[in-house]
Amino acid sequence: MNNKLKLKPRLLVVSGPSGVGKGTLLKRVFSQSGLPLRMSVSATTRKPRPNEKNGEHYHFITDEQFQIKKNAGEFLECFEVFGKGVWYGTLRADVEAGLAEGYFVVLEIDVKGANEIKKQFPDAITIFVKPPDTKTLKERLQGRGTETEEAMQNRLKTAIEELNHAAEFQYCIINDEIDRAAEQFIDIIKKNM
Ligand code: 5GP
Repeated sequence: MNNKLKLKPRLLVVSGPSGVGKGTLLKRVFSQSGLPLRMSVSATTRKPRPNEKNGEHYHFITDEQFQIKKNAGEFLECFEVFGKGVWYGTLRADVEAGLAEGYFVVLEIDVKGANEIKKQFPDAITIFVKPPDTKTLKERLQGRGTETEEAMQNRLKTAIEELNHAAEFQYCIINDEIDRAAEQFIDIIKKNM
C-alpha cells in the first residue's frame, strides 16, 4: 500500500452549482480560518477567463493533454461537467502530496466528481453550498458575464440538477451572507479535525 495513503485522509469536498459563490466563500475560509488548508488545483480543457492564472485557478490544458493524463490514470476523478465538451479533473499527485504534508486538501468539484471521491475516500468531509434561492443563482450566473448564452444556459440546467443532490452531502451551507457562511464552514472543519 502506498505510504502516503496510510495517513488519515483529510479531504474536504465542496460542491454546489456554478454561480453559487463557492470560490469567494473558499477564499474567505482560507484567509480567516488559520487552518492548514490547501486547495487542489484541477486540470481543465476550458479556456481561462481574463482574471485566471494557469497553475493557480486551474491547470489549463488541451483536450489531447487531458486524454493522455486520463489514460495514464493521473486523475482521481474526471468528468465533462456541463454535458459534452469541457473536461475537469482532480490530479491524484496533487492531492496525495497535500495529504502527505498534513493538509486538509479541499476539492471544489461537481456532484459526479464528489460521488467518485466518496467511493475512494469514505472519510472525506462533504459540503454542499446552496444559493438562497434559484432566482439569486440565475442573477449571479448572468451577472458574471463570462459565458456565452449557450454555456450559461448549460450551466443553469446543470445547476438546477445539482441542487437535487444536496441531501447526499454531509453538510449543507446556504451562501446567503458570506461572513456567516464562512463561519459555518470553518466550524465544520474544526468539528472534523
Ligand atoms: P468553472 O468552469 O466555473 O471554473 O467550474 C465549473 C464547475 O466545475 C464548478 O462548479 C466545479 O465544481 C467543477 N469542477 C472544477 N474542477 C473540477 C474537477 O476537477 N472535477 C470535477 N468533477 N468537477 C470540477
